[in-house]
Amino acid sequence: MVSENQIFVIEDEPSVAEVVSLYLRRSGFSVSVFHDGKKALEALQDLMPALVILDLMLPGVDGWEITRWLRARGDVPIIMLTARREEMNRIAGLEMGADDYVVKPFSPQELVSRVRAVLRRTSSTVEEPIEKPLMIGDLQLDPQTRLVTLAGQEIGLTVKEFELLWFLMRYPRQVFTRDQLLEKLWGLSDYIDPGTVTVHIRRLREKIEKNSSEPEHLLTVWGVGYKFEP
Ligand code: CA
Repeated sequence: MVSENQIFVIEDEPSVAEVVSLYLRRSGFSVSVFHDGKKALEALQDLMPALVILDLMLPGVDGWEITRWLRARGDVPIIMLTARREEMNRIAGLEMGADDYVVKPFSPQELVSRVRAVLRRTSSTVEEPIEKPLMIGDLQLDPQTRLVTLAGQEIGLTVKEFELLWFLMRYPRQVFTRDQLLEKLWGLSDYIDPGTVTVHIRRLREKIEKNSSEPEHLLTVWGVGYKFEP
């Protein structure tokens, strides 16, 4: 059984475990805390969480052993916590199968951002196995070369402009709110002005629409958000 919103925090220092779980809960996750490795392994046999935050130095069964155990059973994302930079060789940790690591002391907000980023990364690799060029009307986007052409003419887009157009074109006619687009493309919706999306849409219209004040493709759905009309 896999739980989509559940995070396991495996950390023997109560103060660290407490602050981490507090911030994660505030961000909408369900959190289970384990203060030793053996109990964590027992729980993992019953329920596979969406992500594991794992302290390396634990009494009994340590973080390395838990990582090996998890990796033998699938690809649940792991973020490692480590007390000092020297305590852990980053390469070794990532080669062992951690998706990211955080050095103590760390900011809980930073950890929550990492959790979101790792979840986004790992879930998007499932969604997008092969990225083939998209052709809609005169417009062609190649995600491999990042080349965009309109009626055969190359047009220059910034990285974010490309990602936004690519995303909307992949889901034609589907309406996305500014918050959804921020979350998908910028990730940190808490820190970025939603107006950023509006600005990018406007610039894209200037580049791909015949008349940017009467767009035919990048449409505003009033009161909701934006969509791509093929
Ligand atoms: Ca520890």
